[in-house]
Amino acid sequence: MEGALTARDRVGIQDFVLLDAHTSETAFLDNLKKRFSEDLIYTYIGTLLVSVNPYKELDIYSKKQMDIYMGVNFFELPPHIFALADNAYHTMLAEANNHFILISGESGAGKTEASKKILQYYAVSCPSTTLLDNVRDRMLLSNPVLEAFGNSKTLKNDNSSRFGKYMDIQFDIQGDAVGGHILGYLLEKSRVVHQNHRERNFHIFYQLVKGGEEDLLHQLGLESNCQHYSYLVQGECANVASINDKNDWKTVRNALFCDDIHSIAYWVIASVLHLGNVQFEPDSKGYATLNNSAELLWLLGVNVQVLQEGLTSRKIEAKTDEVLSPFTVDHAIYARDALAKAIYGRTFTWLVNKINDSMENKDSSCKTVIGLLDIYGFEVFYVNSFEQFCINYCNEKLQQLFIQLTLKSEQEEYEAENIGWEPVQFFNNKIICDLVEEKHRGIISVLDEECLRPGEATDLTFLERLEEKLDSHPHFVTHKLADKKTRKTLERGDFRLLHYAGEVTYCVVGFLSKNNDLLYRNIKDVSLQVSTHVASQFKSSLLGLTDILMSKEPWYVRCLKSNESQQPGQFDDVLVRHQVKYLGLMEHLRVRRAGFAYRCRYDVFLQRYKPLCPATWPYWRGVAAEGVEVLVQHLGYLPDEYKMGRTKIFIRHPRTLFATEDAFEV
Ligand code: ATP
Ligand code: MG
Repeated sequence: MEGALTARDRVGIQDFVLLDAHTSETAFLDNLKKRFSEDLIYTYIGTLLVSVNPYKELDIYSKKQMDIYMGVNFFELPPHIFALADNAYHTMLAEANNHFILISGESGAGKTEASKKILQYYAVSCPSTTLLDNVRDRMLLSNPVLEAFGNSKTLKNDNSSRFGKYMDIQFDIQGDAVGGHILGYLLEKSRVVHQNHRERNFHIFYQLVKGGEEDLLHQLGLESNCQHYSYLVQGECANVASINDKNDWKTVRNALFCDDIHSIAYWVIASVLHLGNVQFEPDSKGYATLNNSAELLWLLGVNVQVLQEGLTSRKIEAKTDEVLSPFTVDHAIYARDALAKAIYGRTFTWLVNKINDSMENKDSSCKTVIGLLDIYGFEVFYVNSFEQFCINYCNEKLQQLFIQLTLKSEQEEYEAENIGWEPVQFFNNKIICDLVEEKHRGIISVLDEECLRPGEATDLTFLERLEEKLDSHPHFVTHKLADKKTRKTLERGDFRLLHYAGEVTYCVVGFLSKNNDLLYRNIKDVSLQVSTHVASQFKSSLLGLTDILMSKEPWYVRCLKSNESQQPGQFDDVLVRHQVKYLGLMEHLRVRRAGFAYRCRYDVFLQRYKPLCPATWPYWRGVAAEGVEVLVQHLGYLPDEYKMGRTKIFIRHPRTLFATEDAFEV
């Protein structure tokens, strides 16, 4: 009928690889938008899943939906996060190797939601025994607990992850999910003591104060009013429309699985709140003294006298003795906040360990794992500090990993295998990773060196050192190094990095102290040792993570943010286009389209499929590559569907392989 919309017009194409050749960015965006308007938030680029945040509940995650996707070939059903989870799972079982799912995208794009859906899929859909149900419940319950302690409302996202999370889901040989293990990365501890306008502290504080039972609050000496606590009021948004702290409290309380954990966790939260209310006044000499709010510090479980001393003075070792050097009020505030951050940070680590104990696979029958990586997304605020620097560096590393595993190694493999190949150009962000992490010259090295000059170095000397070392770097600019036009957009205490995802201007104030994160010595006596040089520790833990990932088979979910105001149904063309660009989706599509979805060594391929051809069954006595050629001829592969490399066969579309698998059943 003239004028009628075809299904393709209406819902777009579900795999970008099938869009017309030479797809333009505009056609790519049109397709995403068309699908988004029909609530079709998932689209493939080959086996990579693109997801656009709908900002509304969709009825596509039920158990019924899970059952539909279980064990079905990837491309036979509409794109879905369950299809990707299922494909990774079945590939893991078939190949008996480890996999990981890398979920990336900027803050608010939907990474944490995606990772929860995947975990649910494994916990609910995989085969089960009563014995394992307990472990699975723990896995599912770990989410609300870690979100309560590690997520917070920011300007970008009402439930923003303020820590990085890598979780291994462990499977036994039958494919049962038998255990889990979590690694946590760089919790943004500074949030405990300081929140920007319209941002909040970690959710758990508001949950306890608003939802905590009267008895409990009484025991902890807490008021049920957030306005009472100075660590909760700075952002002026204790109440958030999209968050129900009271209900969330119930969920978290039930999820905190044993009494010990309950009481320790509440006790710590309460202690931090009381600590935040400790104020100091100058005595006649200008030294800090505590005001009367200090009596609740018994909650910290240490000698109040020692603590009060620790908050107002520093121990200095003299020749034979130790003397106390009193603090000014500013110093005392710094010491108080450092203690609050340290207590919270250590509790978070302790909680992750407890959760790991509870999910531990006790009978060691785990054979393979699927790792899930959900890390804080790239973020740019009006003022960006040390925290954003670490978060954005982390995203830079993940982008580098993506490039290495897809665009770079893929193309290198075609070359190595003598597959005719027209190279696809892409932006390699290695230059920015090096700028941050290179020895001696990189930003982290310079920062660490400055931290070793206490008393002499300041945030501004750090900036000067950077200017000396990086003065002609194409991705680094400061007020001093900038040309006339750019200079107008930079303050003197700023440096700007040209990240893969866009420019970010960082204010150096606080870089040294946050990197040091040192507690004064006698406070340390109270709270035990705290990490030093966070940025470089973070760097080494990221490198460790990269190693973990590199040893596994990758799957990708690229999350896109549909609009900045967290509104359902809004598709901001400019915003989405920007993400499509910097995530390298067009380049990925080009490589995918021209490339091959599947490859396999000749001997392995022959071993698997030789029963399908009389000439190769039961033995092929010649060279494996020739046997494969005979086999695929027999199966009717068309010349365009595959290529013979040096050591492997390359198959263009998964459907060719699926048809071959199906031939077993005939
Ligand atoms: P950050 O880097 O700040 O942690 P994120 O990428 O993890 O961000 P999420 O917390 O997963 O972002 O998503 C932000 C919000 O978007 C969610 O709280 C939810 O309201 C909405 N959202 C995300 N994905 C979906 C989805 N698939 N369906 C419905 N709503 C979603
Ligand atoms: Mg998140």
